[in-house]
Amino acid sequence: MKFDLIVIGAGPGGYVAAIRAAQLGMKTAIVEREHLGGICLNWGCIPTKALLRSAEVYDLFKHAGEFGLAAENVRFETASVVKRSRDVSQRLNRGVAGLLKKNQVSVLWGEATLIAPGQIRVLAPSRPARQPQPVVPTQTLGAGEYSADNIIVATGARPRALPGLEPDGENIWTYFEAMVPKAIPKSLLIVGSGAIGIEFASFYRTMGAEVTVVEALDQILPLEDVEIATAARKHFERQGIRFLKSTKVVGAAQTSGGMLATLERDGKSEQATAEKIIVAAGVQGNVEGLGLEALGVRLERGCIATDGLGRTNVRGLFAIGDVAGAPMLAHKAEHEGVACVEAIKGLHAHGLDRDRIPGCTYSRPQIASVGLSEARARAAGHELRIGRFPLAANGKAIALGEDQGLVKTVFDAATGKLLGAHMVGPEVTELIQGFVVAMGLETTEAELMTTVFPHPTLSEAMHESVLAAYGRAIHI
Ligand code: FAD
Repeated sequence: MKFDLIVIGAGPGGYVAAIRAAQLGMKTAIVEREHLGGICLNWGCIPTKALLRSAEVYDLFKHAGEFGLAAENVRFETASVVKRSRDVSQRLNRGVAGLLKKNQVSVLWGEATLIAPGQIRVLAPSRPARQPQPVVPTQTLGAGEYSADNIIVATGARPRALPGLEPDGENIWTYFEAMVPKAIPKSLLIVGSGAIGIEFASFYRTMGAEVTVVEALDQILPLEDVEIATAARKHFERQGIRFLKSTKVVGAAQTSGGMLATLERDGKSEQATAEKIIVAAGVQGNVEGLGLEALGVRLERGCIATDGLGRTNVRGLFAIGDVAGAPMLAHKAEHEGVACVEAIKGLHAHGLDRDRIPGCTYSRPQIASVGLSEARARAAGHELRIGRFPLAANGKAIALGEDQGLVKTVFDAATGKLLGAHMVGPEVTELIQGFVVAMGLETTEAELMTTVFPHPTLSEAMHESVLAAYGRAIHI
């Protein structure tokens, strides 16, 4: 069967690309071997946020007294918390099936391999879907050979394996097992303090686990501005999360008392015990078994090399999302999907501006940022004006009972261009888009300062941070 476009992989990159292609009148098919919505909807972004929401509500109940309320005997059932998270994923997974149907995208159920330029073979999935199994859509096409003028590879990524820490599904977990615990472990060692590691640390600590996070670098949340990461670390430490920075986990063994991990710091060896270990040291692209080598597709650092519009070095073959490299984020995958399809169609496509991709961590407190950190801006040679505003001086944050945090803005001193914005605090993942839009419109300090921000809102801290950069903050 022949299509205009075949997309391999139905994660946020793939299904969004397929829908956009259908909107543009292309006869489109999408191949998926396990779950519509990919990692994002089934084992990533969405189910973690559902777990974190349960943790947040639990924490609020535990602190009911602070709000003048009484809640006694507050407890939870792990199975119910996990079930809610799985139900949320399931609902969105069904939603993707509905969207593909509505847009008349053909779903090819199975595992795809490229067999020639413009040609794929689909075989039955080589392994069963992870449990709980998501819905397999009805009316799919199955095994066979299919061709298309253009093919987009959107096969995503999987947990990065660390030597000596091979996940066993029982005691050494990846995000798959950490997402569906049978019980909350008494103690946890989390390897890696990026967004995934910190979100699990926040969830499990709130639910009562003793949590230690081990980070190889000398800063947690290594991609964030150092001031924001430091502020976040202090909040987490007050909640009882322990951090071991500049430390590597080099191995782990099972003992009668749980897992015994061997750590290395400053060339010295130490040991730490925990009931379970979560390996959250990033992800690696799914490039294997796709037939890329035979077609001569160029790889870069384990991912498919592309230009800004998803084009690989092979004509008619494109790659988007996690398999096309960092930052490995769902919104980056979606944006690439749309840009790639529009470029295929010959439209003026908006490629990715890597400095305007927001990054969010949905822990308590949350962390959100866009653009250059102070250090990166200085390294790029900018003279800077920096604004800082503490949430302790924001009325809405105080009313919410969540007045810990900070909004930091980074401006080019010569031009007033907003180079970056960095936040730690409640709901800052919802706020950051204000700065993303501002940067997209190439806003300067003058427009931001004269913009009216609603009162009382957390967003006023954004305004005040901008004012502070120019010595004009009102509330500090
Ligand atoms: P994926 O979502 O990985 O989808 C790829 C799909 O391709 C999969 O469904 C897979 O089954 C299928 N596939 C692979 N090979 C084949 C083949 N040969 N044939 C057929 N099908 C195939 N990002 C955010 O932006 N925000 C977050 O809050 C966030 N939280 C996260 C939390 C966790 C725990 C994790 C693990 C990730 C999180 N991410 C988050 C990252 C986000 O999930 C990914 O960036 C996103 O899913 C990438 O989308 P994708 O379409 O490139 O790939």
